[in-house]
Amino acid sequence: MRSLSALLLHIEGLLGEKIAEATPMSGGDINWALCLTGLRGQRWFLKANDDPAASLMFKREAQGLALLGASGVIRTPRVFAYGQDEQNGAFLLLEFICSGPRSPLFWMRFGHAIANLHQQTSAFFGFAHDNFIGRLPQSNRRCTTWAEFYAEERLHPQMQLAREQGYLDHAAERQLGRLCLRLGEICPNEAPAFIHGDLWSGNFLCNTQGEPVLIDPAAAYAHREMDLAMSRLFGGFDPRFYAAYEEIWPLAPGFEQRVEIYQLYYLLVHVNLFGTSYEDSVRRILKRW
Ligand code: ADP
Repeated sequence: MRSLSALLLHIEGLLGEKIAEATPMSGGDINWALCLTGLRGQRWFLKANDDPAASLMFKREAQGLALLGASGVIRTPRVFAYGQDEQNGAFLLLEFICSGPRSPLFWMRFGHAIANLHQQTSAFFGFAHDNFIGRLPQSNRRCTTWAEFYAEERLHPQMQLAREQGYLDHAAERQLGRLCLRLGEICPNEAPAFIHGDLWSGNFLCNTQGEPVLIDPAAAYAHREMDLAMSRLFGGFDPRFYAAYEEIWPLAPGFEQRVEIYQLYYLLVHVNLFGTSYEDSVRRILKRW
């Protein structure tokens, strides 16, 4: 970071409070993450990044958090400020969420909350603005069908990026093209659902009241099965989460078979972010379908 002390001075000015302590937090892949403590023990969560692209990423993150929070069905950290200046780089200042234990009740609440979120719908697949998944841009042009949205706004752009970066090959690209023609028959025809968009275990917190709190969204109106597929990509959440989800809104039959259709997007994103180790999983899915 260019100058933490200059950034903290800037934040103090915004908050009208003195910062007594700034403690680095682990776990962030992309940004500096700090817990700020005020003189009276108040806490804030600060993300900072010198990359010029981070300013728009933080703005989209703030907007995504605000829109998910406005759904009224699940909590997100309150957004205090975001911005960028020459001297301090880009930053995002959020409510600090103190973590509590993830009890069975927590998982049940979380499953219910995600199902309730998914019941919030829109006339189109897409979103009010483009956003990011990790640090990669994610276009959210409005589409009337899931098949079009998933092919044009999700799968093809990631495959194109992978090819530009020297990953995968023409055969994979052709297989993906053929798969995209069948998306309309593979995925159940459901209304656009408000999804978190990057629902892995690092992107939610459990607060001290045992409530789920979503962070790092890549939100859009999309297929609800995207969130469930992402949640299962690396081992899955507690089974109570899925049971609670289905109490509110059961999945259409056949999800077990098509889960990897949705995971394909996240795997392509992983190829683009982390390289060759994810190529085989992509190839296997494309071959099977
Ligand atoms: P990055 O954008 O770099 O991936 P994260 O959002 O994952 O960073 O945050 C880094 C760490 O801070 C993670 O351990 C995460 O659990 C924690 N964290 C994120 N947001 C908050 C918050 N609002 N309050 C408290 N801790 C948070």
